[in-house]
Amino acid sequence: MLETTIAGSLPKPSWLAKPLMLWAPWQLEGDRLAEGKIDATVLSIKEQEDAGIDIVSDGEQARQHFVHGFLVGLDGIDFDKKVVMGIRKDRYKAEVPSVTGPIRRRGPVHSAEARAARVHTRRKLKFTLPGPMTIVDTIADNHYGDKVKMAMAFAEALNEEARELEKLGVDVIQFDEPAFNVYMDEVRDWGIVALERAAQGVTCKTAVHICYGYGIKANIDWKATLGSEWRQYELTFPVIARSKIGGVSLECANSHVPLDLMKLLEDKDVLAGAIDVANERIETPEDVAANIRAALKFVPANRLYPCTNCGMAPLARDVAMGKLKSLAAGAAIVRRELA
Ligand code: ZN
Repeated sequence: MLETTIAGSLPKPSWLAKPLMLWAPWQLEGDRLAEGKIDATVLSIKEQEDAGIDIVSDGEQARQHFVHGFLVGLDGIDFDKKVVMGIRKDRYKAEVPSVTGPIRRRGPVHSAEARAARVHTRRKLKFTLPGPMTIVDTIADNHYGDKVKMAMAFAEALNEEARELEKLGVDVIQFDEPAFNVYMDEVRDWGIVALERAAQGVTCKTAVHICYGYGIKANIDWKATLGSEWRQYELTFPVIARSKIGGVSLECANSHVPLDLMKLLEDKDVLAGAIDVANERIETPEDVAANIRAALKFVPANRLYPCTNCGMAPLARDVAMGKLKSLAAGAAIVRRELA
């Protein structure tokens, strides 16, 4: 009960990638980079275990970015043809690759780090993949000319990868769809169909992470425009409740999301953000416990998984570790209260 987990990414060691930034350049090359990614994955598992996290992840140590880290394993994308594009309804500019032909998965993308993670932990293992709608929003299209067609092509490639990860012993596959908080009508019209296609036939637990983004300035500025109550989830949660996706990872800590919106998820698992990733302050275990108690008003304990609001890739390592320890300690406090 109240098993803790993380939304996805953790900071990388400074010997692997430049610290404190998104899209951080690698510090190694070739075979040394491949080896470094695996070493960092194992280290990340160990650090999560030491902190007391129940469902551990690869910490996304082998990916430069949560979207492009998967895309590098696909045919049909030209990474030399980079375009600067406004993403998430032009909230910020990103340098994105271009789709130049049919999307096909060349082979396993994340198997090496999934295998390494699996053999180094007996705990439940979670793995994240970008969702189709968010991929479509983070790439330039020079081939399909139709967003939905392109999303479905990505969904098929994601599905092959998800099935492979499941075979390797992954217990939870989570698709990251921050775009679901931006294009709510499109989620209903096709985003959820594409997401279900990505998860089709997967029998381990599935979840979708929908957030208000990393703690970077563009997101903090955007949040300031959303008013006193953030009700984006109100439109998407009923759509997800009717879908085959098993659970939702959402932002709750320090946010203006009305927590009663979680009731709209009906019987889905809820990975409630009890750790804020947008500031450097390390929550106390008691802060975390308060966040969990607030969520328990709307979600029963057997479906509630205390989590981080979003990925922690751009944070300092000691801050991220402190937050993980408090997450586990806070959940332990509430577990004792419920016992
Ligand atoms: Zn997120």
